[in-house]
Amino acid sequence: MRIAVYPGSFDPITNGHLDILKRASKIFDHIILLIAINPRKKGKFSLEKRKEMAESVLGEFDNVTVDFTSGMTIDYCRKANAVAIVRGLRDENDFAFELEIAKVYKEQNPDIEIVYFMASRQYESLSSTVVKNKHELGEDIENLVPHSVEISFDKIKAFLL
Ligand code: ADP
Repeated sequence: MRIAVYPGSFDPITNGHLDILKRASKIFDHIILLIAINPRKKGKFSLEKRKEMAESVLGEFDNVTVDFTSGMTIDYCRKANAVAIVRGLRDENDFAFELEIAKVYKEQNPDIEIVYFMASRQYESLSSTVVKNKHELGEDIENLVPHSVEISFDKIKAFLL
């Protein structure tokens, strides 16, 4: 069984993440979408809420599960017996960042392969940050995130009003 881990903040999951998952799930037997803490980013949603949102849209996949960790991604991969880490590349900024973390992953575990998927054209400018900014400005996020995620945003807004 070839297990891959797709780590990220997923704050929240977007249609860009789903596109990567769709493509990766055809190549690996099982994918674990791993919600990991990124100390460089202040989260909008709690880890539990991010997990709930991701799980709510993963019904269409029979080989994807969601988990979260407060530890290191590479330790999680080892425990899960993963053969690969899945990442997405949108532009040269992603590339420069991925190059750095790939070195760290490889130092920590030379046996794990990191597999990169180029962003699809329609999602190459899409990030969780773009979604959060647009929503804050009152712009439509309908085509950027799954419907259940849109509803979670609206619930927060209703709570704050
Ligand atoms: P991080 O917090 O590690 O930057 P994200 O949760 O934003 O991660 O994303 C997780 C992974 O998914 C990263 O490899 C990122 O490059 C990739 N990704 C995010 N959005 C897209 C997108 N629209 N298209 C392709 N890959 C994406």
